[in-house]
Amino acid sequence: MSKNKFSGLLDGYAKFREEIYPKQKKLFKELVEKGQRPEILMISCCDSRVNSSQIFNSKPGDLFMLRNVANLVPPYQLDSGYHGTSAAIEYAVTELKVKLIIVMGHSYCGGIKAAYENKDAFAEMNEETGRGFTHQWMDMIKEISTDIQECSHGLTERDQLRKLEQENVLLSLKNLRSFKFVQEALDNDELELVGSWFDLDRGVVLIGNEETKKFHVLKG
Ligand SMILES: [Zn+2]
Repeated sequence: MSKNKFSGLLDGYAKFREEIYPKQKKLFKELVEKGQRPEILMISCCDSRVNSSQIFNSKPGDLFMLRNVANLVPPYQLDSGYHGTSAAIEYAVTELKVKLIIVMGHSYCGGIKAAYENKDAFAEMNEETGRGFTHQWMDMIKEISTDIQECSHGLTERDQLRKLEQENVLLSLKNLRSFKFVQEALDNDELELVGSWFDLDRGVVLIGNEETKKFHVLKG
């Protein structure tokens, strides 16, 4: 980040130092002394417009945050790869013992659009260009993307993308259950899973139903 770009953050930082931190000083002290005990794991996209702390007006210590491209949960895979998302889920469930995991998708998701369009820019792993990580990551939803495009004649592209954004959330819930420690916590009624989708046009959160695959506006 250049000096100029960084200076754009300084006003916000000054506000944090002068107004926000003094009000939360006691809370930070408690969180340091007792450690964090978040009850919710929030899995959302890296997208700069989707900030779950802001949407739910949560405080430090409330949400264990996991953000990645297109809020994907990969299926359980026990191999020697560097599974950052799976590691965060394991820590949240087995150590922090969160009570709720929320997967939050959103409208106009760039990762989902790239997977839908199968863009050349998101080329396959290539030693020469040193690129391909996004392609490899989004490969997880290739199948549902193809299904939606083949079975959704009559729907506009935006509607198909919304369907893919939402079904992607439901797939992540399914993949969460493929982790033994998640399924065990669910079986013991110690954990709940919720799929949601943030509508940027209206500023509302919708909650998904895994059986009907429909999403309904959350009453706030
Ligand atoms: Zn996104």
